[in-house]
Amino acid sequence: MAPSTQVPMSTTSTTTEISNGAAVLHVDKVKVARCCNPNLSPDKLSIRGVVSELLSVANAEKVLISLGVGDASSYQCFSEGKPFSRPLVHSVEAGTFDCYPHSFGSPSARHAVAEYLSKGLKHCLCESDVFLTSGGTQAVQVALTVLCTPGCNVLLPRPGFPPYESFCEICNMEARYYDLLPQRNWEMDLDQVRSLADCNTVALVVINPNNPCGSVYSPKHLLQIAETAGDLNIPIVADETYAHMAYGGSKFVPMASFTNLASVMTLGSLSKRFLVPGWRLGWVAFCDPLGTLKQVKVGMELLMNVTAGPASVIQAAVPDILSDSHDQFHKKVLTVLEHSADTLYGTIKQIEALKCHSRPQGSMFIMVEVDTARLRGINNDMDFAKELMKEESVLVVPGTVLGLKNWVRIFFGTPADLLTDACDRIKSFCERRLIP
Ligand SMILES: *Cc1c(COP(=O)(O)O)cnc(C)c1O
Repeated sequence: MAPSTQVPMSTTSTTTEISNGAAVLHVDKVKVARCCNPNLSPDKLSIRGVVSELLSVANAEKVLISLGVGDASSYQCFSEGKPFSRPLVHSVEAGTFDCYPHSFGSPSARHAVAEYLSKGLKHCLCESDVFLTSGGTQAVQVALTVLCTPGCNVLLPRPGFPPYESFCEICNMEARYYDLLPQRNWEMDLDQVRSLADCNTVALVVINPNNPCGSVYSPKHLLQIAETAGDLNIPIVADETYAHMAYGGSKFVPMASFTNLASVMTLGSLSKRFLVPGWRLGWVAFCDPLGTLKQVKVGMELLMNVTAGPASVIQAAVPDILSDSHDQFHKKVLTVLEHSADTLYGTIKQIEALKCHSRPQGSMFIMVEVDTARLRGINNDMDFAKELMKEESVLVVPGTVLGLKNWVRIFFGTPADLLTDACDRIKSFCERRLIP
């Protein structure tokens, strides 16, 4: 813990007398260095922090290939024909959206998100169930903030998405980790979920399709998850940032299909499927026919009233962006992703010291196990990422950052030629380092 006392910056202090009625107070005027919130710990590993450290050791003679941070939006093979700028240009030019938007989000955008999420559900969402946020990250932040009660805990997946842990810390919520099981297609260890939960557990966080594992849960597993949450009487925070980004025969099924068993807060974003991460538009949707989240929703209204959401002009473009008319674009993106997933999976399978237990079925990531005992000069995942950068200028994320030591996360939302080049470099690196 950081010290809670303020550190004097200057030794010159003057004493002033302040007359406060009869009493005379002596106040030391000392220049102080303000402490920041001690929960903002510099020791915590963040993806961005580790990535910048890795970037600093890149081999200057090789062009950097980043398979680190998950942003495919800059590559032409994905962004070509992206149909979302026109609706945005329209909303900017109309000039009618220059005022403050409603703090929960503009009615038409909330309505569009509600309709988008309701497709195929028995229980449809309405406009008032949806709150618009500044990207999926703010959706994570407000969902956790609103659920936070004194002494509470939250169940998070391991490996996971680091902002959950960071926001838990900032809110003073205890994070408890359940495992995703590589041998079982990265399904959740639901026995462990049951053993971790207690009467202070306020949410079970489920990420599907999954970052970092690339898994997509079957309807059967989703049902088991909902049954577990229902038995334990805890709501599910369903992070569906990668909704519909499923391929290779798997299909995305929303957690909200099971709201007869457990209440669900669905988190989403335009960042991944729509490839506009910089536009910062996300949402929290209450899928709660059982009504167990009524109070939480009131809390969300109070919170959103003091929280600034996404820009008005982006909100105005949402109905068009979410419409069915862009299906061809989404299909094309999935075709490229599936091809990339196969290329990467095929390469990893050929490398002796690396192992991945299943082919990615969704999102844009794969988790790869590193057999450090077979690689010279590599004691852990951090070493692997660093040495790979030093020699091959290929950036991957060490699993330690995500809670899984001696694994690495590899992003494959890159053009085919770049990925093939990266695969060749990873392969030759591992071959050079292989201990026979
Ligand atoms: C990217 C991501 C988010 C955050 O989305 P942004 O819109 O980029 O803020 C949330 N959850 C998961 C699992 C993600 O991968």
